[in-house]
Order: sequence, then structure tokens, then C-alpha cells
Amino acid sequence: MDSSKYIFSGDRRSLLVNELESRKFDLVVIGGGITGAGIALDAATRGMSVALVEKSDFASGTSSRSTKLIHGGLRYLKNFEFKLVKTVGKERSIVYRNAPHLVIPEKMLLPITENGSYGKFGLKYGLKLYDRLAKVSASEKRIMLNPNETIAKEPLINKEGLKGSGYYSEYRTDDARLTLEVMKTAASKGALCLNYASCQELDIANDQITCTDELTGESFLVNTKLVVNAAGPWVDLVREKEGNVTGKRLHHTKGVHLVVPKSKFPIENSVYFDTDDGRMIFAIPRFKSTYIGTTDTNYEKDGSEKSLTEPGVTKADVTYLLTNCNKMFPTVNLQQSDITSSWSGLRPLIHEDGKSPSELSRKDEIFVSESGLISIAGGKLTGYRLMAKKVVDLVCETLEIQQECRTESVAIVGGDFEHLDKLDQYIRSLRARMNGYGLDGDETESLVRTFGKQCDLIIDKSRKFEADRLIQAVAWFCLRYEQVNTLADFYVRRTGYLYFYPERIEKTIDLVAAMFAEFLNWDKNRVEQEKKEIDQLLVSITNFADGEA
Ligand code: FAD
Repeated sequence: MDSSKYIFSGDRRSLLVNELESRKFDLVVIGGGITGAGIALDAATRGMSVALVEKSDFASGTSSRSTKLIHGGLRYLKNFEFKLVKTVGKERSIVYRNAPHLVIPEKMLLPITENGSYGKFGLKYGLKLYDRLAKVSASEKRIMLNPNETIAKEPLINKEGLKGSGYYSEYRTDDARLTLEVMKTAASKGALCLNYASCQELDIANDQITCTDELTGESFLVNTKLVVNAAGPWVDLVREKEGNVTGKRLHHTKGVHLVVPKSKFPIENSVYFDTDDGRMIFAIPRFKSTYIGTTDTNYEKDGSEKSLTEPGVTKADVTYLLTNCNKMFPTVNLQQSDITSSWSGLRPLIHEDGKSPSELSRKDEIFVSESGLISIAGGKLTGYRLMAKKVVDLVCETLEIQQECRTESVAIVGGDFEHLDKLDQYIRSLRARMNGYGLDGDETESLVRTFGKQCDLIIDKSRKFEADRLIQAVAWFCLRYEQVNTLADFYVRRTGYLYFYPERIEKTIDLVAAMFAEFLNWDKNRVEQEKKEIDQLLVSITNFADGEA
């Protein structure tokens, strides 16, 4: 049975809420980011009955605000976190195999400069170790380049003080899409996943949690044997629902990214380069854009729900990223006015006394409260499957279930290509099938990189529409198969238009809003309110607050 068909249709909420209320689950997961999605998938494939509740949209927290890399974490070598590099490196190859449409091999150039983080010798052997720990194939192993070879690869790099570079392999992804497809895969294995459903109260002793349907305001109870708190930056707030939190706590650090048109910053490879303050940042080309990031600063607002939802981008964040970028690429000379969008996210790291944001480990940790609430925090997008395995192993032990983890070989929805050549063939065939749609090669590839094999369904449907048939077919698909409830769900996390194609929003919003209104029974006021929210988002992505980074 293709249960995703049923579960992920936005007009079936009340059925899902009824089902949540009427059963007793083995496990309820709080939080619909990559961590929660991975746990739901792992538990469902081990035959458990599992539900997941997400207070806003799936991936609306940190899981849509990362650097969007599936990487082994080269910089962790500097902190001597060899084990982390090794495990994350292995996970990188598993995610690549299971979701090849969402994981794009990306060459990374790391320039060696005077006073930079890496010397020639250190980088040569650091990258060798990195490739070895991450079991990189022979054809993808790092090469070292001299200054002339570096400039030949990336002519925009500052030649002054350049001593050469390391050229190695990483992977780029779409974090929100990865989260959503993992969630849909979990649903196809029987997990019941609902967005806009927040956990308000925990009563672990009585096997119960209370949730609110954020779209109707109604409360409902869910019965469950165990609860896992995968609430990312909100993990401590969920823990506090049981009373005072003791022991380890979260330490939030903020990361900002800026997007500029690729025509303004036309690099061919991703570049990972030094900053003035001893950190490193990425510049990453992505179809028609290039994005730059990230900052890493302590985030110590009041820790309330609201302050964790939108950490915001300040002028100081922008100055920091642009100043460092312009030093490495002096002829590009980026200005604030070149920025077309931006995002900021919070890392839910584990606090360690006396450590600066960049020194804090990215390792994940599990906390179990006296009542038995299992909380997980830290970690990386790349390592989500392994984090899930650890949590579900613990769940199995607690519930005395003897089932091994199976997710190493579970293809993620949209990604069931027998081998990688088939993906390339698919992209080529789609280009031929979409002749006459007015898309260039990049735009067709980006469709496959968004929806994978589900493009077949979208293209077939598009033939039934007359004008603007592709966007209509995409909206049709997301409404029925991706649990979209708001225009922001569609434009921010399902299509990524807000960050990477904001200009497309104005052109399509009337059409899309009309389809949403019909499918989700919106009245005129709701349509206006939704459009207003999109207008505010469009302003916010280039509107930077005063204040510190
Ligand atoms: P989240 O994605 O935040 O999910 C938690 C969810 O819980 C949220 O959606 C929230 O709404 C929900 N929630 C909270 N409270 C409740 C409640 N009471 N009821 C119901 N739901 C609730 N990792 C990489 O591998 N590669 C990278 O390139 C990378 N870059 C990064 C760059 C930045 C700037 C940052 C901040 C992180 C980066 N990471 C990267 C790390 C990675 O993004 C995170 O580790 C990961 O996304 C965390 O996912 P999560 O599911 O734990 O948290």
C-alpha cells in the first residue's frame, strides 16, 4: 500500500488527528526536522507503530537553514574529532546511495594562504586522512594544486599570498527536501506524521501527551508507550514540560547564509576559505545562485519559543560575510545590494563550559529523564540515519523489541535509481520530455534535484493544464503528496523559491493561491492573509536588523 498517498495529502488532516487519538503507539516523536524524520523512518522499518508531531511545518526549524552540505566535516579534524569524521564520512556515502537525486557531488577548493588555517603540509595530509576516514573512492580522492593551477580552476580567487590549494570531494543537498522525503519514506512504511501539531504537555507516567492542532486550535491526546524528544533548538523547552531540567543543556549558536546571483559571483566550484578571525566559510554555487556562509555566534536571546523560531540576520552578520568574501574574491566586490535572499538557523549544540561556538562539538547526545523521556540533540544533517539508529536501538531495548536497524539500504522516496548512471539518464530523458516547456538545462535538472523520480507524476499531470502548466502541476503534487498547509510551506520548503528563485513568486502566487484555496477550502480572508505572509517573507530575506552578529 502506498500509504504516503493517504498520509501526505493536506486535505486529510482530520482523519490523521482522529487516528492519532484513537490508537496507542509504541513511539511518539516530537519534532519534524531531519532527526525526528530519521527516527520515525527507522522505527517504522523495524515494525513499530510510530507517530510524529511537528509544531509548525516539517523542516521549518534548523533542517531548512543549514549550509546544505552532506559532508564529512573536514574542520572537525582540527578539533581532533577523528571518530566523528569517520562516522559522518561513512554516513555521507549511505545518504548518497539512498537519495542520489538529493545529494550532488560537489568539488570543494580550499585555498592555502599566508596565516590561513591550513599549511600546505597539514592540508595535504589532513585531506588524505579525511578521504581515508570517509572511505572516498580512488577517482574522488583529493589532489593538491599549486597557485597557478588553483587560479586556473577558480580565476576569481585572490592571487596575493596564495600558496596553492586542496581540491577534494563533498556533496551538496537540499536540507528541507531531504527531511521531507525521509518523512514521506517513513509514512510509506506506516509512520503517522502530522505537521502543525504541537506537543503541549507530557504525561510520561500515564503514557500520554497532549497536542494542539495549530490550524484549528483544538487539543487532542496521543497515547504512547515511549516519547522521543527530537525538537532541535527547542529540546530543552520540551524537557522543561516535565519540570526543571537538570544535567546537560543546549547551547545555541546562530549561523547565517547570504544568497547572491551567480552572474554576480560566478564561481565554478565550491570554495572553503579562511576568515580574518580564524574561522572558515563556504561559497557554494547552486544553479543560478551562489550562497555564502556561515557565521557561528552565540545566540543567547531569552530562549523562548519565539526567539528560537526566527533568529534573524543582522547588518553585522552581513558585513562579516561580505568583508571576508571580498578579501578572498577581491574583483567580485559584493555589496549588500547584491543580496537576493538570506536565512539564519540555530545549531542545537550541547553546552561545554569555556568553549567558543566553533569549538563546541557537533556530536549528538541522548538524555533520558527520570520518567523515561528520551531527548536527542546535537549532531548533523549528514549523520541523521546513525543518530536515529542509536535512538531506536534504545527504544527497542526499553520496549524489549528485538529488531535490527534496516535503514542502511532503504531508498528515500524519489531516489530509487538502480545506480547513479540511471539518474543521469533520467535527467537527460526529462530534458527531452520537457522540450517546449521553456526551461533551460539547469532548470530541468533542478526539478529532478527537487522531486527525483516523482517528476514523472508532475510532468504527466502538467499536460492537463494549459497555461503555466509546470507550476500548476508542482502545486497539485505538493497539495496531494506533501502535506502543504500554507503558501510558505510551498514557497520556502517544498520548492525553495524564497531563497533561490524569489522572482518566481510574484509571477506564480495568484495561480498557486487559487489552487490552494480550492483544495484546502480557504476563504478570501485566508488567501489575503497567506499572501501577506509571503510578502513579509520576501521583505525579510533582504532586510537586516541593526545590532550584533
Ligand atoms: P530541527 O530541524 O530544528 O527540528 C526540530 C523540530 O522540532 C522543529 O521543526 C520544531 O518546530 C519542532 N518542535 C519543537 N518543539 C516542538 C513541540 N513542542 N511539538 C512539536 N514539534 C516541536 N549539518 C550538516 O550535515 N551539513 C551542513 O552543511 C550543516 N550546516 C549547518 C549550518 C547551520 C547554520 C546550522 C545551524 C546547522 C548546520 N548543520 C549542518 C546541522 C544540521 O542542520 C542540524 O544538526 C539539523 O538540521 C538538526 O535537525 P533537528 O531535527 O535536530 O532540529
